[in-house]
Amino acid sequence: MLDRSTLDCRSYLPVWLTLAYIFLSCLASPAIADTRENDDDIISIGITVENKPYSFIEGRTVSGFSIDLLREISANNGLKFTYRIGPWPEVYSALQQGHLDAIDGISYREDKANDLLFTDPYYVRQTVVMQDSDNPVGAIDSLEDLKNLRVGIVEDIYYRSLLVDNGISTTSYGSLADLVRALAFGWVDVIIGPSLTLEFTANEAGFRFLKVIGPAPLGPLTDEDLRIAVPKTNPGLFERINDGLNAIPQQRKAELLRRWQEFGGVSLSEAPDFRLNPEARRFLRELGPIRVGLMKDYAPFSFKDGGKLQGLTVDVLNRVSDLTGIQVIPVAGQWSELYSMLKGGEIDVLANMSENQERLAFTRFTEPYYNIPNVVFSRDDSLEFKGLASLRGRTVALGADIYYEEQVVQALGNDARVYSTQEAMFQALEHGDVDVVLASLPNGNFWVREQAIPDVRIVGELNFDGHSGEDLRFGVALSRAPLAGIFNRALEAISPTERRIIEDRWLGASASLEPHQQNELAFSPIEKGWLEKHGSQITYCIDNDWKPLEGLDDSGRHTGLSAEVLRLFSERSDIRFIRVPTESWPEALEAARTRKCDLLSLAMKTPERSQFMSFTEPYVEVPNIVLGRIESPFIESVSELRGKPVGVVAGYAFLELLRNRYPGLELREVSDENEGLRLLQGGELSGYVTTLATASYHIQNLGLADLKVIGRIPADWSLSVAVRNDDPILLGILEKLVASLGPAERNRLEGYWRDIRIEQSVDYSILWQILAGVGFLAALLIYWNRKLGRLNRELEQANATLARLSVTDDLTQLGNRSYFDLEFRKGFQWCQRHSTGYAVAMVDADLFKQINDTYGHEAGDACLIRLADTMRAHFRRETDRLSRFGGEEFVICTSYQDREDTIKRLNDFRKTIEDTPVFFNGHEIHVTVSIGLATGIPEPDDTAAEFLRLADQALYAAKENGRNRLEVRAVRE
Ligand code: GH3
Ligand code: MG
Ligand code: MG
Repeated sequence: MLDRSTLDCRSYLPVWLTLAYIFLSCLASPAIADTRENDDDIISIGITVENKPYSFIEGRTVSGFSIDLLREISANNGLKFTYRIGPWPEVYSALQQGHLDAIDGISYREDKANDLLFTDPYYVRQTVVMQDSDNPVGAIDSLEDLKNLRVGIVEDIYYRSLLVDNGISTTSYGSLADLVRALAFGWVDVIIGPSLTLEFTANEAGFRFLKVIGPAPLGPLTDEDLRIAVPKTNPGLFERINDGLNAIPQQRKAELLRRWQEFGGVSLSEAPDFRLNPEARRFLRELGPIRVGLMKDYAPFSFKDGGKLQGLTVDVLNRVSDLTGIQVIPVAGQWSELYSMLKGGEIDVLANMSENQERLAFTRFTEPYYNIPNVVFSRDDSLEFKGLASLRGRTVALGADIYYEEQVVQALGNDARVYSTQEAMFQALEHGDVDVVLASLPNGNFWVREQAIPDVRIVGELNFDGHSGEDLRFGVALSRAPLAGIFNRALEAISPTERRIIEDRWLGASASLEPHQQNELAFSPIEKGWLEKHGSQITYCIDNDWKPLEGLDDSGRHTGLSAEVLRLFSERSDIRFIRVPTESWPEALEAARTRKCDLLSLAMKTPERSQFMSFTEPYVEVPNIVLGRIESPFIESVSELRGKPVGVVAGYAFLELLRNRYPGLELREVSDENEGLRLLQGGELSGYVTTLATASYHIQNLGLADLKVIGRIPADWSLSVAVRNDDPILLGILEKLVASLGPAERNRLEGYWRDIRIEQSVDYSILWQILAGVGFLAALLIYWNRKLGRLNRELEQANATLARLSVTDDLTQLGNRSYFDLEFRKGFQWCQRHSTGYAVAMVDADLFKQINDTYGHEAGDACLIRLADTMRAHFRRETDRLSRFGGEEFVICTSYQDREDTIKRLNDFRKTIEDTPVFFNGHEIHVTVSIGLATGIPEPDDTAAEFLRLADQALYAAKENGRNRLEVRAVRE
């Protein structure tokens, strides 16, 4: 048997072949040696290169899990390590020749034990089998299962003879990178290698479809121990290293390992050979996450299938994101809506864009990442294509806003038909509504195949200005211009091999859609073992206040969309999901962090949460919106709310995003949805960010007639199951369950919130109109992006008219009776909750009948208008609510800190009316008012009606006592 460690020690890079081994004088702890320490404390230790993620060169230093452990040892025992880095044979022979004090990453072997002292293993790594998840091979439980497969291994690996002796056909590769590539290319069916390292290498290369299926069936050879060894001649040093190693708490070790697992498994912020300059990195840091528009119907470049955005462009974008560390928020939509979002600055980057003159005015383009030919599809045998002119007299379909639209329309006039989706174009071709479709070759091929349209042929290739193809680029908004350069650097860094793999995957001869997710579930033996061990029970937490997505019903049971999802999961897996009750969402997050529960049933992935949770593919997407009061204007962009208080529930995923992207916002964290809506109603917030689903629900259930949707945040909620990130097997189980949701089921789940109806819940007919209006707006919002600009204006107009009509008095432009009913109750409740003084003043014009009789009704109207104007001038505080109660009666409601101040304001108002006559048709009309005021701090049992009755009594007294005066009553004298 060969040395087990051979696996780690092969020199994969040519550079290592030419170097014996290099010395990197990286002192583990302080870089400058402390002069008080004696030389004995500086230990030279041999480190194997190319042993990711345990030890490898990153930039000009060495990093990895093993290196982190050495740092911990240093901290524990004061030793300083000088790393001697090189390929295994050289490092090992340096140790044998006495040039090194210690060696790292070595496996125990009896023959070595004659000369060396071994620490306890600090890690036991498993040898695993990896497969291409697109071509699964089934369970591998024994060597027998490998027999009919082509198995890839690394050259000279210690278990090769075991495989060969058992008649398994193996192919050896010189390096792990080659091994992984062989699997990705389909040269072998499975590969065998060390678990973390294989995953790390596969992910690093962008082969996300390669997945570990389980431990290799190698018996005792499956596990490999990693230790530190010291020559027997130096037992003192051995003691110190061993003690330092044993002093690292188990938890700390697990934490370090997890860091490296994730680094390899999820997000690789920087590939070792790719570095941005400091300026670019500063730019990215300040920029935060970027929003990238991706067409959802542009197969095979970007399209949605089974709720998942995928395609060539998506792969390229993932690669750019991996290399640069840019966090991408995908915004899926149709071309024309995304296009106007880019123009309006609502997204930062638009994918699949081809360069032209007009677009240069607002776009900075990257280099193309793909060039696709445009062709002419037709079912008409007689058609011969010789340029656009030859299509005259035939109806021709083309995509809206495509870069050649203008030229085609110019050439063909009315024969050109512009479609907003690719799918619709090809449907039209199938139904004979058009004779010809202009589209890109792969795109058209996709739809012809997908819709199984018979007898379609490619009649010719489109040429515009000598360009036959369409250049696919990322278009960057001018305000983010430096991104274009950064994207270019990353695009350049994608190796030709990677490019080919991505292209083969989506465009190649064997290119086919990822198979539609099947509803059948197949857990691997490891997963079955896990479930058995845990009694098929999984604990989870929810957000109690997020209906209809999730919440508690009247009897305290989990309800909503996520409850239905877990029910479906249970049904098909026999897993029991047990809810761990929590009081609030922050508490649920905390419970997940402290592992009181295994899952969060419905959560959005954020960088912060990724530190302790892993996320499945999203299973529901919900638009992210801004709610405002009925009278607030629509916003094109959230940045229009700059300087105004905007609410968002504490701990919600978009808080991080909003902070980064809209630094001017005054973000207020509220404890839950109810509080947010109440503060918004009370005018303490100018906007409230939430999901369309929950907003619709609350508007329906609480009768929040005075709120409306005022804008959309172009980053929707993609909600997944969050799984504790220290249990990859559990994550695998949940990923399979999520993948098992079929398209029909996903549709049904969406119905949980799309079908919400706004129903009449308040008596007043005008309120019903507003309610219906809000419902209508909410419904419209679902289709918001179709015609963003125009729709926005229409909504604004409709809503403004509706709002004014329904709550404003025509004559005085004060609030009308409905407005009073709303505001009066709301103001009262607010004061009740906050134990603040509430004041209700009824104002009645004195002897008004006489004024009408003397000067005429019109003169009376003029007096009422004047009265209202004077009232507005005197009561303009934010908490003042003015309304015309009816006839010549008005009500002023307000909250107060100082009762006397309110009395003074009312008397000033009364005096001003008295002192300023109204001039009408040459008449000088003197008007006075009587006022009845009720004040008090409402207690829980008090009602708003009592206050009003008291004010009315006070008004009566004012009239009784001679008019033109104020009478005050306190609720509790
Ligand atoms: P007082 O309140 O001081 O006891 O005497 P008053 O004359 O104001 O008494 P009352 O409340 O009975 O009369 C209200 C009058 O206000 C009746 C009506 O002619 C007049 N009025 C009500 N609405 C309007 C309006 O919209 N325009 C005009 N011009 N007059 C109105
Ligand atoms: Mg009256
Ligand atoms: Mg009156």
